[in-house]
Amino acid sequence: MSIASTIKAFTLWDFVKAHALTLKYFFKPKATINYPFEKQALSPRFRGEHALRRYPNGEERCIACKLCEAVCPAMCIVIEAEPREDGSRRTTRYDIDMTKCIFCGYCQEACPVDAIVMGPNYEYSVETREELFYDKQKLLDNGDRWETVLQANIAADAQYR
Ligand code: SF4
Ligand code: SF4
Repeated sequence: MSIASTIKAFTLWDFVKAHALTLKYFFKPKATINYPFEKQALSPRFRGEHALRRYPNGEERCIACKLCEAVCPAMCIVIEAEPREDGSRRTTRYDIDMTKCIFCGYCQEACPVDAIVMGPNYEYSVETREELFYDKQKLLDNGDRWETVLQANIAADAQYR
C-alpha cells in the first residue's frame, strides 16, 4: 500500500467525501416530489386516459366516421353506428380496449372533430382487466369530467397542428 493510500485509509477519507456529498445535496432544492400530494405540471400534449367530448349544447361530437378505428394500430377501438331520426350519424357503440392501447395518439390525430382525445388523467389504475374495457358511456363521462382541461390543451396546441 502506498503512503497516500495508507493516510486515506486512516483518516476515513472516502467516508468524509461521501458525507460532504450528502451535505451538498441536502441543502439543494429537491429533485423529487411528494406524490400524490404534489404533482408535476403536464404538457398539453400528454397522452393520458381517453375521453369522448361533447359540444357545449351537450351533443356528442363524434360523427361515427370511424377514422380512429381504422387508424388504430392496436385495433383496440370498436365502433358501431346508425343514422338518427333527424338524419345525423352517431355511434351506438364506441369501445376501447385499454389493455391493448399503446397510447400512440393516432386516434386523436385522425379525428376531424376533436371528439376522441387523450386527456390529462393518468390515475386510473384498476384491479381487474374488465375495468379497462371502456364503453361509450365511460368515455363520454371522462370527456364531461375533463372538458375544461381538454379545451385548454387543444387551444394551447392549436398553433402547432
Ligand atoms: S392511442 Fe393509439 S393504440 Fe390507443 S386507441 Fe388511440 S390509436 Fe389505438
Ligand atoms: S371519434 Fe372522431 S375519428 Fe372516431 S369515429 Fe368519432 S368522429 Fe370519427
